[in-house]
Amino acid sequence: MILILTLLCIIVLIILVLSIRTITIQNKFKKSSKQTENKQKNKFIDYSSQEPIEILTGAIKYKTISYKDPSLTDWKEFDKFHEYLKEKFPLTFEKLSYPCDTKYNLIFKFEGKDTSKNPLLLTAHQDVVPAEAENWDTPPFVGTQKDEYLYGRGSFDVKIEVITILQSFEELLRKNEKPKRTVFAAFGCDEEASGDNGAIKIAEQFKREGIHFDMVLDEGGAVAEDYLKGINDPITAIGIAEKGYLDLKIKRVKNGGHSSTPNFPTAMGEIADAVAKIERNPMKTRITPPIKNLITTLGKSAPFSMGLLFLNQGVTAPIIKKAFSKGSTTRALISTTITPTMIFGSNAPNIIAKEAYAVLNCRILPGQDEKDVINHIKKVVKNDNIEYEVLNYKKASPISPTGNDEWNTLTTTIRRTFPTAITSSFLMMGATDAKNYHIVCDNIYRFEPCQMNQTEINKMHNDNERISFKNIHNATKFYLDLITTF
Ligand SMILES: [Zn+2]
Repeated sequence: MILILTLLCIIVLIILVLSIRTITIQNKFKKSSKQTENKQKNKFIDYSSQEPIEILTGAIKYKTISYKDPSLTDWKEFDKFHEYLKEKFPLTFEKLSYPCDTKYNLIFKFEGKDTSKNPLLLTAHQDVVPAEAENWDTPPFVGTQKDEYLYGRGSFDVKIEVITILQSFEELLRKNEKPKRTVFAAFGCDEEASGDNGAIKIAEQFKREGIHFDMVLDEGGAVAEDYLKGINDPITAIGIAEKGYLDLKIKRVKNGGHSSTPNFPTAMGEIADAVAKIERNPMKTRITPPIKNLITTLGKSAPFSMGLLFLNQGVTAPIIKKAFSKGSTTRALISTTITPTMIFGSNAPNIIAKEAYAVLNCRILPGQDEKDVINHIKKVVKNDNIEYEVLNYKKASPISPTGNDEWNTLTTTIRRTFPTAITSSFLMMGATDAKNYHIVCDNIYRFEPCQMNQTEINKMHNDNERISFKNIHNATKFYLDLITTF
């Protein structure tokens, strides 16, 4: 009895300590965000030109669709797109064009007032994914303006960045102003196809030329509304790392034969058994630094009960992992995922396959690699006859730091454009061009200066992709502010 009472007292005491800690952190956060709000004012708050909206509308017309096999890409569309940009941004093309080793990429260099500092690189991709016109309410490659929105493929992903970065350069050149430090802009041609001729080549060129950047800013997270129930302020999730990518083939070769006299298990049965075991036994969950930071940030402005859980990860991590494991999106944040996507046996109904195989698409957490995935599968499947073949592998990116000067300047600039936004780090599930620039920069951040809700974010790579006029204005304001203050 005494033991139970003592245990109960200890538990109550722990909860009390954690509660006080939570309230203190949440109050401190509320105070500090009020102070910064009061101090900050966007230098370009009055920027209200309609120009970037019209230019982006025109840019949608160019079908700059990229394919993994570059011979399928219609490169003439890129030529026409470049002509269009040249016509719309004449000063930028005349004064800032920078020699680029590869044909369809674009690089610009805007020399700053202070050339002693390492430059800043703003990067985005010119290419887009295909669109099935019959599923759209408006034609995807026209550029339709309706109710303060621009509809079209690439409007949000990510011609908005190409246009508003160039617009901010053109605007400064017209006013005879300069960035604070030198700013480069680089626009690759094949991000959507994870190609070898875009950002990879640009990064190699910078490396060859000995250019090192203090910060690279690429697409990635946005300012997301209704991110989590109970948190009213929008959350800015800035990607500081990307998961690795692996396509893994698992194969079983065995006697085939006629299906009327089967010998079980067949090669196909063994592969199917392996796939079922892999699905039932996911890899262990792990909270990596970008997600740890995200959970803490959310905890600061969350309702008390969620704050109690999120702000005391030292004690509550197992509960958080359990809760995150219940949803497919949240689980992917804290675990390497192994997803069976293709399976093959024989090519006739009455033939037992001599060779059966499945392809697993895996997204790997920073800190793990393809060997960890294969070892996990071997342990789970327990079948030494299965062969493994890596079809495609890109390791997870390094994790960029937070709390450094570059991070602080970036987050402060974000809050000047989006005053109510809470900023946090994030782990990207998908791949972007950004990881290629690690050979020329340590501080790589993935953020698109647009505020939207989840429904709108989901239109990316989807039907009826769109961007609001307000976001086009905000993005231009954001880049103008960043390049004149960074
Ligand atoms: Zn993109």
